[in-house]
Amino acid sequence: MKRIYKLDKLTSNKIAAGEVVDRPASVVKELIENSLDAQSHNIIVEIREGGKNYVRVTDNGTGIHKDDTEIAFERHATSKIKSIDDLQSVVSLGFRGEALASIAAVAQMELITRTEDVVSGIYLNLNGGILKERKEIGCPKGTTFIVKHLFYNTPARAKFLKSNASEAAYISDLVAKYALAYPNISFRFINNGEIIFSTSGDGNIFNNIARIYGTEIAKNVYYLSEKNEMISMEAYIAKPSLSRGNRKLQVYFVNGRYVKNKAIADAIDDGYKTLVMTKKFPVCFIYLKVRPSQIDVNVHPAKTEIRFKNEQFVQTFVADAIRKKLSQENLIPHMHLVNNNDKNKSTIFPETKQIGINLIKDVEEQKEFSFKSLTSSENHSMPKNQKLVISEDKLSYNINSKDNEAYNKKIKKLESNNKQENPKLSNIKIIGQIFQTYLIGQDDDTLYLIDQHGAHERILYDHLIEMYKNQSVVSQNLLTPLPIELSFKEFNLVKNNIDIFKNIGFNVEEFGLNTIVLRAVPILFGEPEIKGFFLEVLDSLNKEISNGYEIKIDKIVSKACKNAIKAKDTLNTREIDELMRQLAYSANPFTCPHGRPIIISITRNDIEKKFKRI
Ligand code: ADP
Ligand code: MG
Repeated sequence: MKRIYKLDKLTSNKIAAGEVVDRPASVVKELIENSLDAQSHNIIVEIREGGKNYVRVTDNGTGIHKDDTEIAFERHATSKIKSIDDLQSVVSLGFRGEALASIAAVAQMELITRTEDVVSGIYLNLNGGILKERKEIGCPKGTTFIVKHLFYNTPARAKFLKSNASEAAYISDLVAKYALAYPNISFRFINNGEIIFSTSGDGNIFNNIARIYGTEIAKNVYYLSEKNEMISMEAYIAKPSLSRGNRKLQVYFVNGRYVKNKAIADAIDDGYKTLVMTKKFPVCFIYLKVRPSQIDVNVHPAKTEIRFKNEQFVQTFVADAIRKKLSQENLIPHMHLVNNNDKNKSTIFPETKQIGINLIKDVEEQKEFSFKSLTSSENHSMPKNQKLVISEDKLSYNINSKDNEAYNKKIKKLESNNKQENPKLSNIKIIGQIFQTYLIGQDDDTLYLIDQHGAHERILYDHLIEMYKNQSVVSQNLLTPLPIELSFKEFNLVKNNIDIFKNIGFNVEEFGLNTIVLRAVPILFGEPEIKGFFLEVLDSLNKEISNGYEIKIDKIVSKACKNAIKAKDTLNTREIDELMRQLAYSANPFTCPHGRPIIISITRNDIEKKFKRI
């Protein structure tokens, strides 16, 4: 028979610590929040060895009353509420009175603190929650906590920690987010004796982004602000070309608090749709303000995950704001003609490399990418040694048919209805074509390379989507209907989704066993590869359905457009003009629907540098 015993205080604190402290970053989180609650303007976070053996948080806040220093380490000891009634109005980040007790239970801890009204401060040293030393010392107003040898007395927990570099990266990330959330407070983060970043606390978010994430990112963000009666938004959103392989640099704050939220993540994807490649994530810093009543209170208030009462509303608002901003900007990636050995001279804070933010790597990849697209023809399976071709031949678009007239009218209408011609693009004068793939153009003092296939894809995609949305796809009857034999599964897929095909301009009928006949196809700019186009639509529809996704027309269309382009490489001048004209009317003329760049630019300045003229 096992009897019941009450756990002693140290044991129960150790157990409770498991819930509050699971890694050095959670120690840092609790200490920063205490500093914020103590009205500090200056917070220094210093760690060594990933915070496993040393964490220091120093602030210039109120300090702890000299008679309260010991009780602060008791569980359920707090200055922030007195009774349950205070919970309604609590504005501090903490109020449970558990953090210090928990951390102290599983580490060696020192406290140095002084309040304004006394001349000397208090020093406390605790070991596993047991007081070892207390003395008076001279110190500035404010509080310092030092946490050494975390989990020294709970080795099972220590085992779960990751490498020093990973733990340091967690902490760096965390401090960065507090620094961004509290631009009026100065933060400094020190790792192994090196200052990783510091912010000035002057309230300037942009400067904070530059100081934390480096100048390369700061140089490439756009500011936007939008609001209505329900919600307001300020944001710094980066050019698509700066996108990353994960969402780590998508940071958002709701009413000043760093949060995670699926609706905002989806809104970013939505706003950048077709501007970034799949599996690439744009860099965004978003600050939202909503009425507190708009946030779902059923989600635990201490959790970073939040939910809005009306998620869809927030998502649409954020996505629209992003889309609008991006459509106003000139997104032509600029190509620096760098020497390979220039690369190491990065202007970005070198320390970011060490902490594992991967900043440098990504930026270099970016440069590499654009450089390659100019220099290495092998990558494009193009014939080498091509001469510059300025084509004048007689290829035409079959523009005589009535159908095409209808189409042209429609396009004109779409253009005049809601689209604006992009002045940047309409100023580009095309000089010629190289590698039968890229157009070369020029405006005042910039040289442009335009990927003609990407441009074509973009135009097809835009037109088809626009017409689909307006339910006004123009079809072209085929002179000879085209029978296509399908598998049983495909055949059924077409039969069951005939409306989808109709809505994007295909006229399809059953034609005997597992065979359909195409009578009409959507008319698009240029001449689509009809059968390939149809099969591609079918294929992506099949994928969407078998993956159980909701059918996303834009996805299907974007895939289809890629294959719809006829391998007609040499364009005549009229075709080039038309391509450029239509591109200029696109809302997203700078990237193809798959997010690859369509245009890159090189300035005269860069070229002259290369020739050592300047
Ligand atoms: P809570 O934050 O939930 O109150 P903690 O265990 O984190 O509980 O802290 C206990 C108390 O110690 C706080 O209520 C506060 O009075 C005091 N305290 C902790 N850190 C600081 C600090 N940096 N500056 C001033 N007071 C502090
Ligand atoms: Mg606290």
